[in-house]
Amino acid sequence: MSDGLVVLGATGSIGASALDVVAEMEGRIRVVGLSCHSSWRELATLAARWRPAAVAIADETAWREARDAGAFGPAVRVLGGPFALTELSAADEADVVLNGIVGAAGLAATLAALEAGKRVALANKESLVVGGELVVAAAGGDLQQSGRLLPVDSEHNAIWQLIAGRPREEIRRIVLTASGGPFRLVPAERLAHVTPEEALAHPTWNMGPKITIDSATLANKGLEIIEAHHLFGLPYDRLDVIVHPQSIVHGLVEWRDGALFAELGEPDMRAPIRSVLAWPDRMEGPAAADLADLATLTFERPDSDRFPCLALARAAGKSGGTTPAVFNAANEIAVELFLERRIAFPEIAGLCARVLETHEPRAVDSLAALLETDRWAREETRRQATRRGRAASRR
Ligand code: NAD
Ligand code: MG
Repeated sequence: MSDGLVVLGATGSIGASALDVVAEMEGRIRVVGLSCHSSWRELATLAARWRPAAVAIADETAWREARDAGAFGPAVRVLGGPFALTELSAADEADVVLNGIVGAAGLAATLAALEAGKRVALANKESLVVGGELVVAAAGGDLQQSGRLLPVDSEHNAIWQLIAGRPREEIRRIVLTASGGPFRLVPAERLAHVTPEEALAHPTWNMGPKITIDSATLANKGLEIIEAHHLFGLPYDRLDVIVHPQSIVHGLVEWRDGALFAELGEPDMRAPIRSVLAWPDRMEGPAAADLADLATLTFERPDSDRFPCLALARAAGKSGGTTPAVFNAANEIAVELFLERRIAFPEIAGLCARVLETHEPRAVDSLAALLETDRWAREETRRQATRRGRAASRR
């Protein structure tokens, strides 16, 4: 019998790549659930194609609209409201939950799926950044052994494939590659004037807006260091970042004897998704690029002066407890404000730094405590942005 798959965030960029791979798998996986935030018309189109048993629409207003419009037909359970995502993630029909939601909004669903015994294919890195301890515990501790949490994020997926169950003690160091984003060569003084349009023009990957801005600030790589810490159980001083503008090498593992392994491929999220949906087997996929056709591969050190989010995230990860959740929430709100043209690009890092300074770190004991921290940090970020905006307009 084929596995039942729930795709959370089905209307997004990861959702589309995941459904492409399901189509390639020709019936070896059945789509049993799909979710969206508010774009229910798009979700209805996907449901007509994939015929899931249930869908979830997280936004309540959108859920009511969809129900009133009879958008899904009688055979589909249409869940909505605050518990819709967790209910869908724990549904009986589901064996695997692919989480492609953006932001901390994905955490509760990751936990619900793991607690219900599902395997989770995780693109939503914020689940691990905000609730790493809880997620790892719910997935049964050692993730390499349990096979309950499979990384979709390309760098982590590459490293997971390279490690392939070998003992953690054999790893000296893990290296995540970063494209460097659209501003890799832009001088510091110009960064205050870059526009959302420029920031959204990613040089190599085609992704949703939030992660694209995170790639421009390098916050994405900072979040990924925290993600790697939880996935691979290594301390922060053994997690490195290198800028590799071509995005062909996705991740590297240095073994204790100094051997350095790399995984290479085109920047296309369908590749890591193939590896997790077919796991523990490998499915057919397109041929690898001919190395002779590839442009030169180059590597350079990240510039943490121009891109302070990288060091801020690393420090937040090291300090642990509720601190990474605060960094994540401040960053989510700062990205929104930048996209709304309410703050300048360098203020994304500025706001994160100031909100982190006002936070009193605590140990993480429950999802409720994390969600409370997340809510506080969002409010604090908006408050600080408004205060600074007022001060600037008085000058
Ligand atoms: P996206 O913006 O394209 O899609 C996000 C999806 O989440 C949409 O379906 C949206 O309806 C849903 N969503 C948004 N807010 C929600 C909320 N509050 N509650 C419930 N659902 C909500 O984003 P994306 O680029 O597909 O990224 C999704 C996740 O995958 C992010 O965590 C991102 O960091 C990670 N990721 C993405 C890529 C990529 O190539 N796009 C690569 C690596 C990791
Ligand atoms: Mg990544």
